[in-house]
Amino acid sequence: MSAVLLAGCSSAGSSASGSTIARADAPPGIRLVLEHRPAPLTETIQVFVCAVPFPTSDPLYGDLQLRLDLDPTTIAAQMQRHVSLYYRALSNGAYRPDFVAGETLTMTTEETHDQCVEDAVDASSPEAAAVLVVANAENLATGPGGWGRPGTPCAATFCSAASTRRAVYVGASDFHPDNGAVPLLDLIEHEIGHTLDLPHSGDTSATYDSVLDVMSNSAAPRDVQPERKNAQDTIAVNRVALGWIPDDDVAVAGPAGGTYMLSPSAGPTGRRVVFVPLGDLMFLTVEYLAGTGFDAFLPSGGIAVHRIDESPTVCEMPVAGACVGIDRQQLTVGSTPPHRDLLATAGASWTVEGWRITLVRAATASMDTVQVEVVPTDG
Ligand SMILES: [Zn+2]
Repeated sequence: MSAVLLAGCSSAGSSASGSTIARADAPPGIRLVLEHRPAPLTETIQVFVCAVPFPTSDPLYGDLQLRLDLDPTTIAAQMQRHVSLYYRALSNGAYRPDFVAGETLTMTTEETHDQCVEDAVDASSPEAAAVLVVANAENLATGPGGWGRPGTPCAATFCSAASTRRAVYVGASDFHPDNGAVPLLDLIEHEIGHTLDLPHSGDTSATYDSVLDVMSNSAAPRDVQPERKNAQDTIAVNRVALGWIPDDDVAVAGPAGGTYMLSPSAGPTGRRVVFVPLGDLMFLTVEYLAGTGFDAFLPSGGIAVHRIDESPTVCEMPVAGACVGIDRQQLTVGSTPPHRDLLATAGASWTVEGWRITLVRAATASMDTVQVEVVPTDG
């Protein structure tokens, strides 16, 4: 259990004194996120290649004829060198996946990629917590480039991929030689997020059109930085769920709200997010994205707001009356799609769900914290 947040506590020397409520008194939807299973410090992800025959009856590939010469050992080394470092940076060192080579599995003409993934899971080593399966054929452009699943919940310290069926599948497109020596990485980084039980963010359409989160439009940074391989950063609610922001650095706003100091949500220390209860299973998150590091493609840093909804109506299979983990709905609100422009000018505000969120003081060269007022509009 975390320390109790003291009402009215504030950063030393600041005038910020937003009201907070203790974790034990927070609505159940907020507690579900605070109590989510943290990501492990380390784990092994085993890499398999599915060799797709031509022709194949799997409609995912249609009549596409390209077959790449992919090798699990080479891919595991690429992932170790780039995706592992991405997640280490994203988590400030709290999540360090290791990639090891599995084998190449040859599909029969009648087999589908889904069966190949199951074969890979069955063939995975007892030490592997998840598998990454790459087909040597491109998926048809009309469908998604891949998927990721957390598998069945793991109640122990470690569960093998063979027991949970935790897996990522991607087609060959990101490994096309036209991409250079390093494949495109953002889709795999996105799908690994799903294996950690992270949901999409953005809107409710299939496009997930926010540029602010690896779990939304992960390719968005490439629109600004054509040489980009990695995805952007992620949003505070995901960091809290995975234990990358400790509970003590989360403020749960009281009914009157107030003014809060916020450190960058991607940073290693300080208060990094305000949760604003909207009901038992719904709340807003208010965070400061600094627009640096993986987010350097943004025009500027600023405040981002998301509406998190775990109501049983937002997913197909609620657990104990709530949509948790990968089934949470996370809408990017306040800003206009694709959410490139954040609340960045002192005095600017958004009104969302009966709350007014105002940037009181922007970050300066000498201080990277911001001051934000979060108050009910009828208060
Ligand atoms: Zn996804």
